Parts: sequence; C-alpha cells; structure tokens
Amino acid sequence: MRDRIVLLDDPVIDKIAAGEVIERPSSVLKELLENAIDAGAASLRIELEEGGRKKILVSDDGRGICAEDVPLAVRRHATSKLRTSEDLFRISSMGFRGEALASIASVSQFSLLTREASAPEGMKLETVGNETISLYSRPAPVGTTIQIQDLFFNVPVREKFLKSGQVEYASCVELIQAQALSRPHISFILSHNGKEKWAWPGVCTQEEAASMSEAVLRKRVQQVLAVAEADSFLYVQEENQYGCFTGLISPPGVEKATQKNMWTFVNSRWVKDKTIRYGILRGYHSHLLKGQYPQVVGFFTCEPSLVDVNVHPTKAELRFQYAAEVQSLLSQGIRGKLRGAEWAEAPQAVYVAPTSMSSVSQPVRTFPSDFSRSSSVSEKEARSFTFAPLRMGGISTTASLPKMLQSSAGISPAAPSILDWDRFLFQGSWFDCYLVFSDESRILVIDQHAFHERILYEKYLQDPVLYSRYQPLLIPHLMACSAEEVALFAENQAQLASYGCTYKVLEGKGIEVTGVPPLLRRQQFDGLFTSLLQEVRSHPPTAGMPATLHHQVLATLACHSAVRAGEKLGAEEVQRLQKEAHGVDFLHNCPHGRRVFKWLNRSEVEGWFDRT
Ligand code: ADP
Ligand code: MG
Repeated sequence: MRDRIVLLDDPVIDKIAAGEVIERPSSVLKELLENAIDAGAASLRIELEEGGRKKILVSDDGRGICAEDVPLAVRRHATSKLRTSEDLFRISSMGFRGEALASIASVSQFSLLTREASAPEGMKLETVGNETISLYSRPAPVGTTIQIQDLFFNVPVREKFLKSGQVEYASCVELIQAQALSRPHISFILSHNGKEKWAWPGVCTQEEAASMSEAVLRKRVQQVLAVAEADSFLYVQEENQYGCFTGLISPPGVEKATQKNMWTFVNSRWVKDKTIRYGILRGYHSHLLKGQYPQVVGFFTCEPSLVDVNVHPTKAELRFQYAAEVQSLLSQGIRGKLRGAEWAEAPQAVYVAPTSMSSVSQPVRTFPSDFSRSSSVSEKEARSFTFAPLRMGGISTTASLPKMLQSSAGISPAAPSILDWDRFLFQGSWFDCYLVFSDESRILVIDQHAFHERILYEKYLQDPVLYSRYQPLLIPHLMACSAEEVALFAENQAQLASYGCTYKVLEGKGIEVTGVPPLLRRQQFDGLFTSLLQEVRSHPPTAGMPATLHHQVLATLACHSAVRAGEKLGAEEVQRLQKEAHGVDFLHNCPHGRRVFKWLNRSEVEGWFDRT
C-alpha cells in the first residue's frame, strides 16, 4: 500500500541528494508544511514563538499517519512517498527524502499527535533529541499536529547562528506566504507569541488551484502579499510542449530594487532557481533599469520527469532537461504580455523613400541563428524608412486605455506608449538635452538620447539588414586591449561581425577595427567595442546566440548610434526624429531601461495658476 511508511533501502538512499536541511526555524517549518500539504490538508494552523526559536507548531486536517507507523515517521530514510529509485524521477509530492522529521526530532523536543479517519483513536509520540519519551494512544481530531520546542537545544553551535526572533519570524512569514501563494485552496492561520497574525481562508477548490486561473491568483496575491500595485499586475499564461507558465507580473514602472518580490514556483515548489529567474528577467529585457527587478508570482509546471528536484538538499535549485526552452517560454510569455496587443500592436515596418547606401559594403551574412529574419528590403531601401503610424482605437483619449498603463508610474497623466507624432508641435530644445513638444492638452518633455536610442533599437529589432552589414573604415582603427580581451575578441569575431563590427585580431596587442555598423554615429570606436565586449563577457558561453545577448548587443549599437545629450539638434533633425518615432512603442523606456519621456498635463499647469 502506498501510504504506509517504509524504510528505504541503501541503493535508493544513495541516490538522494545528501545534505543537512534543518538550519533554522523556517527550514523546520518548510518541512512541516510540506508534509501537511502532501497529506492533503485543506486547513493549516501555524503557531510560532520567538520566530520559531522557542516553538513551532503545525496542525493539519490531512489524512494522518497510521498508528503503527508513527515510530517510523521519525526514523531516518523512512517515507511513504518513495519506494524505488525510479520514483525519484516522477515525484509529485513535496517530500521524498524521508529524513526531515528524523533530523528535526534529533535537535529538538518533538511531539506528534495524529489520527487517520478510519482509526478510532489517535496516537501521540514525544521525543527529546529523537529519544522516545512516550508513545500512547489518545483521542485526537483527524489529521496531524507536530510541535517542535527548543530547536537546537542540544547543538549549541547551531543555536548560536540563529538570528533574533524577529528575523527568524520574517523568514517564516516569507515561507508561509510562498506556500499560501502556491496552494490557494488551503487555509492558513498564523499566530506569533500567542497573537493571531493572519487567517487566510482558501480562495478556491483544490481542482481550481491546479489551473491557477486569473481570478484565483489575483485573489490569493491580494490576500497574501497585499501589494499596493497588485491591481495593475498582468496575468500571463503561456504554454508549449515543455510546460506551462502562469503568473501575475508587474507592469513596467512598479519594479523594486530587490529580487524578493519575485516569487517563483516549479511544479508548486517554491524555488529560487536561476533558469526560472533568468527567463523572467529576459522577458522584461529593456523594461528594467540595472539593479531593478519586477514583482512576479509565477508558476512553471511541467512533467515531473523533465525536472530534477533531487539536485539540492532543500530542492531550492533544480535541473531542467530543457532549460533553454523553459527560459524562452517564460520570456516569450512575459514579453508578449508587456507588449500586449490590448494596448499596443506590434509596429509594421513600411519602407519609403529609398536612398542610396553606396558606402555600405557587402553584407556579412551570419545572422544569429535564432534571430535571423527574412527581409525583402533591398540594400538601397534599407537606409531610410519609417514605421507606419498605428491605428489604435481611441488613442487620443485615455479612457479606453487599460488600467495598467494609466497607473504605471513614470507616465503622468496616463499616456499611450505609441503616439501620433503628427499631432505634436516641437516647441524647442532645452539644455541641448531635452526636446519639448506639445499638443492641445499636454506638454511632452523628451530625453533626446533615450528617444533616439529607442527608435534605433526598434529599427534594429525590425530589420537585421540595418546592422548586419558593415561600413568599412578608410583608415582602420587600432584599439589596444589586454590579453584576456584579445582572447574574447578572437572568440567572438564571427558573432560580432554579424552585427557589423569587423576587426582583425592582433595577437597580444589588441584589435584593428576595420568596419562598423552603418548607422553608427559616434566615431569613438573604443567605447562601442568595449561595451560589446562587456556584454559578451557577462554572458556564459553557449552554442548559438542567446536572446538576451542579442538584445543587449542591439541596445549597445542603438546607444552608440543615437544622438547624445548635449548635442545641439537643428529643427530639421528633430523633425526627422519625430517622423521616425511613428509607430515605435516607447513604453516610457529606452532599451537600457531609462525613461524616455514625461508628460505635463494642461490641468496640472492650470492648477499652478488657480485656473481649474
Ligand atoms: P518525507 O516527507 O520525505 O517522506 P518526512 O521525514 O518529512 O519524510 O516524513 C516522514 C513520513 O511521515 C512521511 O513520508 C509521511 O508518511 C509521514 N508524515 C509526516 N508528516 C505528516 C503529516 N503532517 N501528515 C501525514 N503524514 C505525515
Ligand atoms: Mg517531508
């Protein structure tokens, strides 16, 4: 029978990732909550004292433990969740190591009271340092209550490493929040030092919890995280043969300087896994400043056999069989949502007024494989084009814009990210840095560099022809570099050439730049090549071109091709920029994540003069 506890045999034990899992109260709590969840509990009561240092109690209404098995529950390598090593590859329960209760009991005063529905009476076990003190039957409700007191009473070294009650409490809270987010059907009640802290009733049935619909997820996030901006969060659901990603994600503008608000789960397991985080951040690429992180509650689910949870003793890091595909799924889902069709359609390129591109040499046809796009644009046409302005219903009124846009910080008042530029009058430039435009109801102040940078970035994204060929330099430019840099340049020569950056490697000395992308504006080649090298260096070497690197390289090219702050722009040049901005989705960010523009509403100005 599957639900009875058995001792695992050695070959299975040997295959389980070893390591101590009990470090602090929250790690005890994690094991207890996971056991209760595995037991099918619908309601959990948690009592803590001094952040769990003094007492941790978890009471559940799950299926309970068979009376005869109670002594086994605190034996090492005793579990009801695993039989053979093959089971390790199809684990759907949270636990499987059969070690947690044994480890916990060995460093605390432990008591367990449990009853199965079919049993007339419950069973109580009390141990100290995992020595049995008493074992007897007594009346009990169906379910299991486990109480831990005086954690590490017999391991003073470890006790010394515990933080203050408040810090340990905070860590427990974070854990409970995570468990509650991933199990919206379960009720959680928490009390600390005798005071009830919260009671979160379940918000759906167990079946509903599995699909994590938008309504369920929003309710739970509101309840558990109480984030002020949660209303503006976007619901994402993206699925393919590798799995499914479902989540609520913050729109640009409400990010934080910490990764703490990125709650990520794999098959309902709370993880801080790099593959998952990286996939999410990739989806946000160009919407985040360096050091800023989105707020996300995201669930990736897949076949249990496609992800190995047995790599890390606390299962916080995983190994995916299709890590790259999983990352792409996440980033695509998020990216698609952020550029969502409901408020901004993808621009369609329309090419006009072909001019000659005589200075451009033969194309270097080594596009990054996953980003190559077929383009019917001839070499001649490539130099000058503009995007067709988008037709969006009701763009001139803010009323029809989704809430997300209206509430996103950095745009005041609500403003579309794709503008009808014909309606804006250029009023002048300020400090050779800001361009000031107006229409009948607003003043628009633009950072000229960020503006141009974004335009170019979008152009590059649309059309590889614009960067994949190079403009040969009449006099090659010598750039001195360190041996390590030379090696990196040598390694990435073909890849950088596919972005129009060609050079000869001068062993031990540096590089000789022979060609640059046609749109490059600045003649400071060292700056461009150094930035490119930094991008390459910050990415682990992989086969093919990773998407983030591709975007970063394009952002770097855009940055170096854009007008600078402090550069005087003539009216004609501004007009040209204004024209090129048609159809570009600014989303108030440049590709490096900086703000592009800021609005001043007429009513705001009128308010200054008491005219409203
Ligand atoms: P694991 O969860 O890896 O199996 P544990 O040491 O955490 O190992 O638990 C040992 C066994 O005790 C579990 O396999 C399960 O059968 C039983 N058990 C522990 N906690 C509970 C609970 N709250 N409800 C029902 N059974 C439990
Ligand atoms: Mg367990």
